[in-house]
Amino acid sequence: MPELPEVEHAARGLGAQIVGRRIVAVTRLDWERMVEAPAVEQFVALLEGREVLAAGRRAKWILLTLDAGWTLALHLRMSGTITVHGPEAQPDVYTHLVLLLDDGQQVFFHDTRKFGRARLLDAAGLAALDAAHGLEPLTDGFTPAALGDRLRTRRARLKPLLLDQKVIAGIGNIYADEALWLAQLHPLRASDSLEDDEIVRLHSGIRLALLQGLEHGGSTLRNYRNSYGEAGSNQEHFNVYDRHGQPCPRCGSAIEKIVVGQRGTHLCPFCQRLAS
Ligand SMILES: [Zn+2]
Repeated sequence: MPELPEVEHAARGLGAQIVGRRIVAVTRLDWERMVEAPAVEQFVALLEGREVLAAGRRAKWILLTLDAGWTLALHLRMSGTITVHGPEAQPDVYTHLVLLLDDGQQVFFHDTRKFGRARLLDAAGLAALDAAHGLEPLTDGFTPAALGDRLRTRRARLKPLLLDQKVIAGIGNIYADEALWLAQLHPLRASDSLEDDEIVRLHSGIRLALLQGLEHGGSTLRNYRNSYGEAGSNQEHFNVYDRHGQPCPRCGSAIEKIVVGQRGTHLCPFCQRLAS
């Protein structure tokens, strides 16, 4: 599932490829449940004629800023990809939304599992989406103090808290496991038991894991592609994720896989001991 680094790359690619272009028509929309808001007919009517002014990201949402005050918010969920193609390209059966642009390019929202979502938001809708999400971990506002505030005022295990988009935005299963390994913290550690130095380690672990993901174009386990159709290579640089049974890069112990909140969770049993 795409997380912050993957969504960021998807948005940057779209920014480079389609900003300044106008959406001439929605030439395919064959999975109406993809559109969460407004009603499908309105969604199509409002999109047609809109110019793409900017491409950005909030949490795991791609945000295309359009003219007339609209924002097209797109969520890739499990298996979505958004790619840009020439005029001759033909969408396959898994391409559920196609936008035709004024230069003949086409934007394909491809999604084999159909969990991907689109919303066309006005200013109030955009503000609501923003308010529904927590700290952006790569912004200046994400400080050890801000992180400590969010963690210590809750009583939960660390990993589920890192995955909670209302607390910190953009982290999913891969980068949570990698961040906790970097910070040498056990995924089941109680959030209100963290010492100051552990908060500092977790803060830098989160940043490092995400920055490494960004540096390598994101992680591609199955489906993820950027807007050019390119896979990321960060999966070649995982320290713990998807490496159970293999040696920890820091201490050589065998990486373990446990289940935390129904999510497969990878850790080093020596580097990430549950403090007594
Ligand atoms: Zn280790």
